[in-house]
Amino acid sequence: MIDLTNITIEKAHNSLTNREYTVRELVDAYLKNIDEKNANINAYLEIYKSLDEQIVRAQKMIDDGSAGVMTGIPVSIKDNMLVTGEHASASSKMLEGFVAVSDATVIAKLKSAGAVLIGRTNMDEFAMGSSTETSAYGITRNPLNPDYVPGGSSGGAVSSVAMDGALVALGSDTGGSIRQPAGYTGLVGFKPTYGEVSRSGIIAMASSLDQVGPIAKTVADAEILFNIIRGVDVMDETSISETVVRDTREIKKIGVPTNWIEQGGIEASVKKNFDETVEKLKNEGYEIVSVDLPITQYSLAVYYVLNTAEVSSNLARYDGLRYGLSKEGKTLQEVYEKTRGQGFGKEVRRRILLGAYILSHGYYDAYYKKALDVQNVIRGELAGVFKKVDVIMTPTAPFLPFKFGEKMNDPIAMKLADLFLAPANIAGNPALSIPSGDAEGNLKHSTHFLAPMLADDALLSFGKKVEKIMTNY
Ligand code: GLN
Repeated sequence: MIDLTNITIEKAHNSLTNREYTVRELVDAYLKNIDEKNANINAYLEIYKSLDEQIVRAQKMIDDGSAGVMTGIPVSIKDNMLVTGEHASASSKMLEGFVAVSDATVIAKLKSAGAVLIGRTNMDEFAMGSSTETSAYGITRNPLNPDYVPGGSSGGAVSSVAMDGALVALGSDTGGSIRQPAGYTGLVGFKPTYGEVSRSGIIAMASSLDQVGPIAKTVADAEILFNIIRGVDVMDETSISETVVRDTREIKKIGVPTNWIEQGGIEASVKKNFDETVEKLKNEGYEIVSVDLPITQYSLAVYYVLNTAEVSSNLARYDGLRYGLSKEGKTLQEVYEKTRGQGFGKEVRRRILLGAYILSHGYYDAYYKKALDVQNVIRGELAGVFKKVDVIMTPTAPFLPFKFGEKMNDPIAMKLADLFLAPANIAGNPALSIPSGDAEGNLKHSTHFLAPMLADDALLSFGKKVEKIMTNY
C-alpha cells in the first residue's frame, strides 16, 4: 500500500525512480480513492480517456532515464482547461459534449514533463462562484466535512487533492478561486503574477484577471508545479518574458491592514486564528507593521465591475452557432435566446446582464471607466506599500466554509468570500494561501499573503518558512 496521506512530489519522484513502485501502482492508489469517494464528493466530472496511454508514457520516461520531477505524478485538471481529445465544459450546459482540439499551453507543458493527467474537476459554471454550487453538474462536497462547501470556483480541484484523488491540481484564479477553496480544504493555493502562466487554451472568464496556478498539500509541491507551467508563450501576448527582472527580495517585513480586517464582517474564530498567526510570525522574528490600504480595500467592488464587463463580452461567443449547445429556433434571435437562456445558469446570466449594462452607452464612463481608474490607483497604492513592507497578510476568507444553500440566495454575501483576495487580481500581484490551524467541525483556518509584482519566487520561499512555523506549533 502506498501511503498517500504524507506523499509529496519529491517523495513520489524518488520512489518512482528507485523502483519502489510503478507509475501504474501510484495512479491506481489514487483511482481507488476516486472509486470510493467520488460518488459522494463529486470532485471529478470525468476520468480522461487517455489515462492509460499517459501511464505507459510516463513509465517509459522513468525506464529510459528521461524522467523529470513531475514524471508520473498524478495531477487533476480544472474543467476550464483544454486537453486534446477530451471534454472541457467549464461545468456549463453550454459546453456539454464539447471536445478540445488542442492542448492549453499549461497542459502541453505538463504532458512534456510526463505528468499523469487524471481527469477534469468540477467547478462553478465558467468559474463564477465561491462554493462550486453553480456547476451544471452538481455540487462538490468538502472532503474535510461533506456538510460544507469546498469553496470555489476550483472546488473540484481542491477536493480532488483533499480526498487523495490526485497529488496536486491545476486551478484558475480570477478573483480568488484558487486561494479560497484551497483555504477551505486545508491546502496550499498559489495565484501567480498575472502573465507568469500562459492563458492560452483556458476557457476565459475575465481575461485581464484570469490566471492559472497550483493547488497542493505543501508549498514545495505548489512551487514545483508552478515552475513546470510558468513561462512566456507566443500564444498569449500578456505572458511575461524570462528577461523581465523578477523581485527577489527576502520577505522579512509583514504588513497587516488592521483597519480593513477589523471593519466588520469577519468571523470571530477567523479573527482569533489570524491574531494567533501574527503572534507566531512575530515570535519567529518577522517584523509586523500595520498598513493602511484605503483604496485597495475597494478591490472587490472594482472586481465585480471589470469581471462582469469582461464576462459579457467573453461569453458572447456562445451563440448556439459556433460551439457547444445549439437550440433550434425559427429566427436567429430565437436561436440566441433559447441557446443562451437554457445553456447558461442563473449566476452566469446575472453577470452577462450586469456586464452589458455596465458597458452600455451612458454607463460606460460611470462604471467601467471609473473602475479602471480605481484599478490604477490600487496598483499605485500597493506599489507604494511594498516599498515599506515585503508582504501583506490577511485571513484568506472572512468566514469559514459554510453549509450548502446558505449563501446561494444571497449573491452579495457569497461574493464577500473574496474580500481579501481580489486585490491580487485587480493589481496583478502574486498571492499565496497557507493553512494556519484547525477549526471546529474538522475544518481548517488559512492565512493569505499578497506579495509585490513579480515576487513569485520570493513569496514561495517565504511560504515554505511560514508553513514550517505553522506545522511546528
Ligand atoms: N468568486 C469569484 C467570482 O465568482 C472569483 C471566481 C474566480 O476566481 N474564478 O467571480
